[in-house]
Amino acid sequence: MIVMKHRMTFFRTFDTTLADLTIMKYLRYSLQILILTGILAFLECKKSTGPTPEPPPTPTTFHGIRVYIVSTGDIHEYSRNLPGLATLVKNIRDTASFVYFVLTGDFFMAHRSYDVKRCDGHTDSSIRPDLKVPADSDHLYDGMAESRIVEYLNFDAIVPGNHDWVYGIAMLARSSLKPKIVACNIGQPENLANDYLSFSSKRGKFRLNIIGVAATDNIHSKDQETVRIYSLTTSTSMSKIKSALTTANMNVLLTHLLDQDDAIAFSALKNARGEALFDVLCGGHTHESFANITGNAAYMKAGIYGTYAGLACLWWDTVKMDVVKKTARLVCLENIPKDPGTQALIDSLHRVYPHY
Ligand SMILES: [Zn+2]
Repeated sequence: MIVMKHRMTFFRTFDTTLADLTIMKYLRYSLQILILTGILAFLECKKSTGPTPEPPPTPTTFHGIRVYIVSTGDIHEYSRNLPGLATLVKNIRDTASFVYFVLTGDFFMAHRSYDVKRCDGHTDSSIRPDLKVPADSDHLYDGMAESRIVEYLNFDAIVPGNHDWVYGIAMLARSSLKPKIVACNIGQPENLANDYLSFSSKRGKFRLNIIGVAATDNIHSKDQETVRIYSLTTSTSMSKIKSALTTANMNVLLTHLLDQDDAIAFSALKNARGEALFDVLCGGHTHESFANITGNAAYMKAGIYGTYAGLACLWWDTVKMDVVKKTARLVCLENIPKDPGTQALIDSLHRVYPHY
């Protein structure tokens, strides 16, 4: 009986070992087939999603919101078209929830007279700056009129141009302007500017950063005040911009630079497909006016004594969590009805601060 029991145990053990071997063999073959199928599926997947471009968004495939960037710059104390600009921004804000209004520098310091290129193409050289305080007035008021109108227009972000230091650091540091100033490349004065400003929306499911790069050349500082601004290509500027780019879904670069410096931004801040890492670049400084799509980003220089606004639209898909379309265009401000509040402020400033 004892032998019998022992034998049975022996055979059971033997049988189990045979069964285990078969199962292991089966499992090994299954695993091999699974891995092979997986590799084939991966290759197939890579092949199908690689070169096929995203279809352009249509109302049926787009699920999201539109974000508008309105830009102007190089106003140089000339107010004629600012009431039209205020109307444009008001009209867009009446119909869209996400509108960001930016100033690309050189709002201070009038020239003696202007060559204003009108929307119809002709150049008007008879224009005089109208918000400039006369040179013999108390210097404390220098820049005050323009500062008041810039404050009233309520920009979301402002980058300093080379002329904006002309009335001194204190004028830019006024409480109405300072919180709006973005410039990641200012070394001196310290603590004047934000590197960037962040705007986010729970409903729109996005965070948008506006990153500033101030003018580096031809700085007009008041009374030899020290203004030190680093170039875009220094490692400090670049690392600040790159770290800002990673914290938002959408990014706007606000610059007051020469075209070749903007070109450096496009070439230094791009992905492997050659697309810009930012969504919009609003520039100034050169007094040109254009709006286009460069390196898959909206690129605009607009303003020039208030002749134009740049208008970029980002189609932010809240399902794909991606910008699926970008557009950029110039809007002529000459024939837009004047915003009464802005016009009234300009009229009152003209009474307080005599014309140039
Ligand atoms: Zn300018």
